[in-house]
Amino acid sequence: MDFKYVPTTCPYCGTGCGFNLVVADGKVVGVQPWQRNPVNEGKLCPKGTYAWEFINHPDRLTKPLIKKDGKFVEATWDEAYKLIAQKFKSYKGDEIQCLSSARVSNEENYLMNKFARAVLKTPNIDHCARLCHASTVVGLAGTFGSGAMTNSIEDIGESKCVFVLGSNTFENHPLIGRQIMLAKKRGGKVIVADPRLTPTAKQADLFMQFHSGTDVAILNGLMQYIIKNGWENKDFIKNRTKDFEKLKEVVMKPDYALDKVSKISGIPEDQLKTAAEWIAKAESSNVLYSMGITQHTTGVDNVKSVANLQMLTGHLGKRGGGVNALRGQNNVQGACDMGALPNVYSGYQAVINPDFQKKMKEAWGVSDIAAGRVGYTVTEMVNVLADTPGKLKCLYIMGENPMISDPDLHHVEKGLKNAEFIVVQDIFLTETAQLADVVLPAACYAEKDGTQTSTERRVQKWRKAQDPPGEAKPDWQIICELAKVMGFEKQFPFKSPEEIFTEVAKVTPSYGGMDYVRLEKPEALHWPCPAKDHPGTPILHKEKFAHPDGLGVFTPIEFKYPAEVPDNEFPIILTTGRCIWHWHTGSMTRRSPDLAREEPTGWVEINDDDAKEWGIKDKEMIKAVTRRGEITIGARVTKGIKRGEVFIPFHFVECAANVLTNNALDPTAKIPEFKACALRIEKIKEA
Ligand code: SF4
Repeated sequence: MDFKYVPTTCPYCGTGCGFNLVVADGKVVGVQPWQRNPVNEGKLCPKGTYAWEFINHPDRLTKPLIKKDGKFVEATWDEAYKLIAQKFKSYKGDEIQCLSSARVSNEENYLMNKFARAVLKTPNIDHCARLCHASTVVGLAGTFGSGAMTNSIEDIGESKCVFVLGSNTFENHPLIGRQIMLAKKRGGKVIVADPRLTPTAKQADLFMQFHSGTDVAILNGLMQYIIKNGWENKDFIKNRTKDFEKLKEVVMKPDYALDKVSKISGIPEDQLKTAAEWIAKAESSNVLYSMGITQHTTGVDNVKSVANLQMLTGHLGKRGGGVNALRGQNNVQGACDMGALPNVYSGYQAVINPDFQKKMKEAWGVSDIAAGRVGYTVTEMVNVLADTPGKLKCLYIMGENPMISDPDLHHVEKGLKNAEFIVVQDIFLTETAQLADVVLPAACYAEKDGTQTSTERRVQKWRKAQDPPGEAKPDWQIICELAKVMGFEKQFPFKSPEEIFTEVAKVTPSYGGMDYVRLEKPEALHWPCPAKDHPGTPILHKEKFAHPDGLGVFTPIEFKYPAEVPDNEFPIILTTGRCIWHWHTGSMTRRSPDLAREEPTGWVEINDDDAKEWGIKDKEMIKAVTRRGEITIGARVTKGIKRGEVFIPFHFVECAANVLTNNALDPTAKIPEFKACALRIEKIKEA
């Protein structure tokens, strides 16, 4: 038997762990530790351990499919390309929307950005970062001038105080959770604020259980108490920031005195005092946050408040400090970096800036790139499709599954069914692919070379371990072949991901010094890496922030309640999230037998006192109902969730949490409020 080990990067969460794929006779048969990878040093969570199981699953798509009379029929690539090109050409650019993907490589995201703008002439391109960290990109760009995690993963283990806010790190980024434990072992304090007593919260020195959606009140309260005690970092504020007086005007209001904040958030006053003192007095303190604070109508406000706290205490630009936004999907950072967003080209170069328009036109060799207008986000796309039929007519979706991942699924379904022509490119026939007119079979991470960028801005390689099944092809190759059929062969001449990366580096300043040879080392490179002799940047903002004047900007933020709050009809707050065994819409983890066995279906977590009051027993099937819809789901009764709140994981189609969630959006980032809406529980009447 012919064996080989192929080092690559995990296709699941944004941590970016490395492992070896074990290949026997040309097929991937397992995962083995890769000790030399500095991110995880050979350790893996369950998802990483079983990241090989879905690769050769019999459900993999192997041939293009064209829907005829409501049924999919196998087709040749030529037939599929011809039909797609003919349809794409029949629409105006404005009538087409592309969705790129946080699961595919940087090279593929870059090409989708180029294909949308240079071939289809549409500004409408986005991806699921809109649903998880759009608020981070907007919020941190406003405060620091750069919208990404400031410090490295390894640096978290050096912190003297780790404040985890809205992140169940141990389940969602387990190998970052390892760094929290290392910080604790080295004498650092760990504070966790969450509505649920999660596995992360169980390890905290201080656990603050709060009502979902009250983050700004909590952060303003902490800042008021720090200022009242004179614990703010006066030198840092004076030398590195501006608009501190504006911040003070808001956070010093009586509304943010700790007794008031305690009433709003449900956190006892003495806990808030302890947290403020630990954060302010620590030699270094970082904030780790995730979708618990970003997925709100106040997502940008929450992120800016975190930045305010860290500037107030001077915990930025140094070891053990930082604002560390933990990004959910393997390459959600890279998809943003590569311009799979409606407002920027790769490297966050604004599409409305004439200099960047000119630069891209020249680099791509085209005269028109749909410039001048910011396109629709994913969330706007659904609203336009559902509410103004005929405005958007055609969708090209690569590796996304909005039929599970987006809020208010009935609304999403209505929208997608209003589209005239949908192309989906994926590895499985997902819930979204089932609604498509043409489905193109794609290669998965183990079947192609490429790069992905993890949450800590580390650009790492995928290495091909086996051939794709049947006639499936890598996404980059499909886009190039489609571009050729559309008449753009000259602009898409690429024969390998490496050739694409060379173009990425040319037009993207933060990747300018990277190439495949430099990225071959296990430690790879952190962006920004603007020149060939630049070592990369594990810690951002060491001397100055990324604004032209080098200063961080304090932004005063007032607390606002979520868009939908409990009332008599819907008296409970629903919050949603992930679990350790599954990943996003479950298309890969639910096809991994070892993961599926651990958590075969969804559940609703209910506080035990609430359950007693409502007459609900553990494991009882109940109905969860919101203004958007209802699902039937099993109850999991626990002390670990605050009274008046319930939690549902969103991976499971048969009890899809997103049937219930609210598509109210943050006004700037357009991220939906997945983390708080009003719900009621109904008992199922026996027949
Ligand atoms: Fe993969 Fe994330 Fe687990 Fe690491 S922590 S093995 S990147 S899922």
